[in-house]
Amino acid sequence: MKHLCLLAAIVGFWGNGFAGEMKTVVVWSEGTAISQMYPEDINGAIARGLIESGLTNAWYIVRASLQDPDQGLPDSLLERTDVLIWWGHKKHGEVSDALVEKIEKRVKEQGMGFIATHSAHFAKPNKKILGTPCSFSAYKCDNKENIITVAQPNHPICKGVAASFTIANDERYSDPYLVPPTDEVPLMGIQVHKDGTQEPAKMGYCWTVGKGRYFYLQIGHETNPIYFNPEVRKIMANAVLWAAPKK
Ligand code: ZN
Repeated sequence: MKHLCLLAAIVGFWGNGFAGEMKTVVVWSEGTAISQMYPEDINGAIARGLIESGLTNAWYIVRASLQDPDQGLPDSLLERTDVLIWWGHKKHGEVSDALVEKIEKRVKEQGMGFIATHSAHFAKPNKKILGTPCSFSAYKCDNKENIITVAQPNHPICKGVAASFTIANDERYSDPYLVPPTDEVPLMGIQVHKDGTQEPAKMGYCWTVGKGRYFYLQIGHETNPIYFNPEVRKIMANAVLWAAPKK
């Protein structure tokens, strides 16, 4: 209950103003994850992981949803956001173009960090900021599991993350991912199909886009409890710290 109360307090806090020394991460979701798997939605699961990582010592952790006023990101919040985490799947088209333009400006011109996960690859902000189709060559529900491996052990996003870990996942996104080229791919992996076929895949990509840092995590399907995985939670917390603007 302690964590639940803490989360509620933080979520309710932003409207009252922020202390200058604290940073803010907003975890945004379109709200379509199934409640049996994610009773607090995916943004709640990610936010809870950030709280448990100890991030609350220096960060306000805010949940935001498409269904909230101003689609969860009024100017008063977006202007204070240091890192924006985005999960979407079915409702990309409902996100307003005006909001997408504001997000792009915050990233490219003002250095806000942006983290997109899994099916947010087709989200409007993702495509707008990266400027590429952001499609994969295949989407198949034929995976038995994903084996995630740390490819760049000294990368900040990999700090404390197991060298290799496995998550159940019946959905596969096949490379290539049509995004700008980058040598900063700290997480790689193997998608193991149900028939035993092993398919290498890039799992975590980094870019610097204008003044902002940008991280994409390939895993995160809504019918698997991926955001409760302790290694994934370490990755997300590390990614927030990595993506934070250097003030
Ligand atoms: Zn999916």
